[in-house]
Amino acid sequence: MTVGTLVNEKNPYELAMQNFEMAADVLGLEADIRAMVRAPERVLAVTVPVRMDNGKVTCFEGYRVQHNTSRGPAKGGIRFHPGVTLEEVKALATWMTWKCAVMDIPFGGGKGGVTCNPKEMSITEIEHLTRRYTSAILPIIGPGQDIPAPDVYTNSQIMAWIMDTYSMTRGYLVPGVVTGKPICLGGSLGRNEATGRGVFYTIESACQHLKLPLKGAKVTVQGFGNAGSVSAHLLDGAQADVVAVSDSRGAIYNNQGLHIPKLMLHKEKTGSVVGFSGAEEISPEELLALECDILVPAALENIIHGENARSVRTKIVAEAANGPLTPEADAILEDKGTFVIPDILCNGGGVTVSYFEWVQNEQHLRWDLHEVNSRLERIMKNSFSEVLETKLQRKVSMRTAANVIGIARVVEANKSRGLYP
Ligand code: NAD
Repeated sequence: MTVGTLVNEKNPYELAMQNFEMAADVLGLEADIRAMVRAPERVLAVTVPVRMDNGKVTCFEGYRVQHNTSRGPAKGGIRFHPGVTLEEVKALATWMTWKCAVMDIPFGGGKGGVTCNPKEMSITEIEHLTRRYTSAILPIIGPGQDIPAPDVYTNSQIMAWIMDTYSMTRGYLVPGVVTGKPICLGGSLGRNEATGRGVFYTIESACQHLKLPLKGAKVTVQGFGNAGSVSAHLLDGAQADVVAVSDSRGAIYNNQGLHIPKLMLHKEKTGSVVGFSGAEEISPEELLALECDILVPAALENIIHGENARSVRTKIVAEAANGPLTPEADAILEDKGTFVIPDILCNGGGVTVSYFEWVQNEQHLRWDLHEVNSRLERIMKNSFSEVLETKLQRKVSMRTAANVIGIARVVEANKSRGLYP
């Protein structure tokens, strides 16, 4: 099964702009300020030549986009995936701007990516790709400028190579140039689990609001990587029944609930959830249409769109992934009364603990896990309450409410700074 079979081919940047305009209308923003905060501040496209193991050179396309830095340095992950395009990176960078503002952390939005298939590359090829890409974007990154982090198919080892490449060119160790590093290199305790943990906290808040007991709630998770597997693990720990999960190779189902710790080991050993004993295989489309209480899309954009949204039967959609619902799907789910926890709120735990990591690096401090998780829980739950309050006051969807808060904070910072020169 390829990504293309589920994905509606709409341009994610156009979709991000559609959602922006909706929130800007609610805020009554003037045309000039809209134009200023809508467009990316800086877009860098690079060619990344890599000598492959067979001795030949392959050139990959890479990008780094800084969408808005009114509130602080650009912040956002780096994606290594065959589907990476400039439009996708621009959309992801835009969402990072609103996300950092909704979480009220002092960062702007950025994102990067390389169009490649790391699953077909050796570890040496991935290291060379990472180091060459880092040197290509080096003039615009740095702890006070733009701070990358992991995203789809990148991890703490890749962050270590980015930090090492940057540090070697500076001549001294600069841990604050990336987050999501290994703990031994200044990574924060709790960063690896932070996105899934944040997703879990927002689901707890949504269940409380909807008076839906989490214990015994039926959960389905699309995408069993970092964000999806940690969300599933914490939901399982809270005695919800995770009945179906999927990854890029397929989907599995067990009506009684899957044994998540065993499934995580199976995925680690075999590279996929497929073939897990005690579960039957279903199609990825069937997973999205299963009747459940909580659906967690945790893979890629545009997974639920105009053509399949009507078949989605869940009370809550918790967007661990960025941009999994198109605006058309939003409208259909809103009509059905589905409660959507939007991406820029739901998966904001990752960037929040990235912020904690950067703060620790800049101050040469180490926080213990309890400190990290309790600060994260407070920020996630406060942000959820603010978005819910705005939704109820303004009678808009949770997505528009989150965008309204994020965009308003960016506009306020932008106006206070004034226009240079
Ligand atoms: P990851 O690489 O760890 O996992 C991605 C998972 O998605 C893999 O299991 C892969 O097999 C699966 N997948 C890919 N295509 C699929 C498909 N068509 N159907 C089902 N599964 C598919 O990546 P991640 O870091 O967990 O990121 C997942 C999503 O969460 C992305 O949208 C990312 O932007 C978002 N996110 C991640 C973080 C973070 O800290 N890692 C933070 C915020 C948001």
